[in-house]
Amino acid sequence: MIPVRDDLRALEGYHSAQVDVRVRLNTNESPTPPPDAFREAVAAEVSKVEWHRYPDRAAMALRVAIAESHGVDAAQVFVANGSNEVLQTVLLAYAGPGRVVATFEPTYQMHAQIARITGATVVEGERAEDFTLDPAEVERVLTEHQPHVVFLTSPNNPTGLVEPADRVQQLLDFAPGLVVVDEAYAQFADWTALDLVDEDTPLVVTRTFSKTWSMAGARLGYLVGPTWLVAELEKVVLPYHLDTVKQIAGRLALRYVEDMDDRVAQIVAERGRISSELEALGLTVIPSGANFVLFRPDGHDGRAVWQGLVDRSVLIRDCSGWPRLANCLRVTVGTRDENSEFLSALSDVLSASTADFRSHPQTEQNGADR
Ligand SMILES: *Cc1c(COP(=O)(O)O)cnc(C)c1O
Repeated sequence: MIPVRDDLRALEGYHSAQVDVRVRLNTNESPTPPPDAFREAVAAEVSKVEWHRYPDRAAMALRVAIAESHGVDAAQVFVANGSNEVLQTVLLAYAGPGRVVATFEPTYQMHAQIARITGATVVEGERAEDFTLDPAEVERVLTEHQPHVVFLTSPNNPTGLVEPADRVQQLLDFAPGLVVVDEAYAQFADWTALDLVDEDTPLVVTRTFSKTWSMAGARLGYLVGPTWLVAELEKVVLPYHLDTVKQIAGRLALRYVEDMDDRVAQIVAERGRISSELEALGLTVIPSGANFVLFRPDGHDGRAVWQGLVDRSVLIRDCSGWPRLANCLRVTVGTRDENSEFLSALSDVLSASTADFRSHPQTEQNGADR
């Protein structure tokens, strides 16, 4: 075997279980597909694609459509294969060896992961027990470490907490470098940092088609930021990285904004139902502004609860072994039926586990300590 780069040796890949189950609520996708009219429109345009030609390298029609949807200029929009590739391009341009990237944990793992792959040093700020971010910690991390890039995820993943606007403003006041606000779930929340973007502010806001737009299969994401920054990213990204079909799909999806808003409204309503039912079951629920809910089955072993759900053909995200998320589980909001199946399977698992607790109090006690 040929040794990999020294600094990559300790890295682990990003994992998300792909188990064959009936109800899949583990990756924050939309539970429903985009409208039929969208499919038909895409099929019609794809039938006219000139397959022997490279795509529009600047993806101009798509960028214009995205820019119009946010009331910005197309030159302020950078598009890539999923917002993960957007983040990677930002980090290739602004992080890399000898540079520092800051995150506030727990948060989306790919920020630190991609930063490390570019060779940057990652500094992890800490959130409070309730997963909120203390302004004193923001100030400490930024003044002590002077990061070239600092991330905030709002709503945060995996907690679902919406970052208050004054926290983003504080980052902008203190950050010596670039501020990236990852808004993969912005449409489920009640405010966006997009209004803060302008030519004089070192801020980018990233978005994705994977969650709200029901297009995880397309791999499409973008950022809105200053034009000078977008120009740098265009130098870094591979030529023709966005294929013709994806450019068509993204542009057409934006015509169905009302359908998207309807799906979002349904998910937000179901999120409320899930949260209150979890609370009624006596579990700790983190308030969510996203399409998922993080909860802690206090008094039960999180990993065992997760397994009990898998045994009942319901897959959610097991965060119980992640740093700072001891015993936590995350459920993506699905269709009404899927959510009901999840809730009834969960209450079943919890009563079985309570019965187990009565017969083996010792074992259960150990589990609850994790
Ligand atoms: C899902 C997610 C992404 C990834 O989006 P893609 O566009 O599918 O790459 C980015 N950021 C956060 C916080 C996410 O949860």
